[in-house]
Amino acid sequence: MQSISCEACGQATPAYDIVNCGSMDSGYRQLCGRCFNAKVARLAGLQDFEHVSFEPIGMTDASGGTHDFHFRAHLFGAMIALDAFELRESHPAGYQFQAIGDPQDDLLALLGRLIEKMRRALAIRHVEDSALGLQVTDHRTVRARIDCDLDEDDRVPLVVIDGREVSWADFGRMVMAFEGWQFKLEFRDMSEEL
Ligand SMILES: [Zn+2]
Repeated sequence: MQSISCEACGQATPAYDIVNCGSMDSGYRQLCGRCFNAKVARLAGLQDFEHVSFEPIGMTDASGGTHDFHFRAHLFGAMIALDAFELRESHPAGYQFQAIGDPQDDLLALLGRLIEKMRRALAIRHVEDSALGLQVTDHRTVRARIDCDLDEDDRVPLVVIDGREVSWADFGRMVMAFEGWQFKLEFRDMSEEL
């Protein structure tokens, strides 16, 4: 796994847990999550904040597929965001989840909330393979995350459904199975439940 040395503590840290911290004037330093959080906690006056690192866990989806989730916890202002994600080539990809909480509260409780949310999401299968390619299951509902398709020259979405990357063109083909129907599109930020 790609790792970077934290410029404060020197710890070899996975790239996904490195934060570029600083400003144009003072310059930037690459800090591990622990050092970044210690700095933010100092600035925000959170004396009692204690950083916690969570070990990766494996979870099974509705099709029996296994997914390894990694975690990172980053303070922002007076809140803490706990992210869970899969990795592809050392970068967050596939299923990704977030829970936001109060950093003075028990972070294990926040982790518990996040894992419950992940369980609910993994229990639902939105798309399935068929002879005609990927198609929406009988639930007729798609929940997805919007990424940017870096393989395309234009700014084109890449949608991640059931942890699978689906190109905008393939998503369009899936939608055409419902030609003549109507649909509702809603947007939610990463910490919200879909
Ligand atoms: Zn560090």
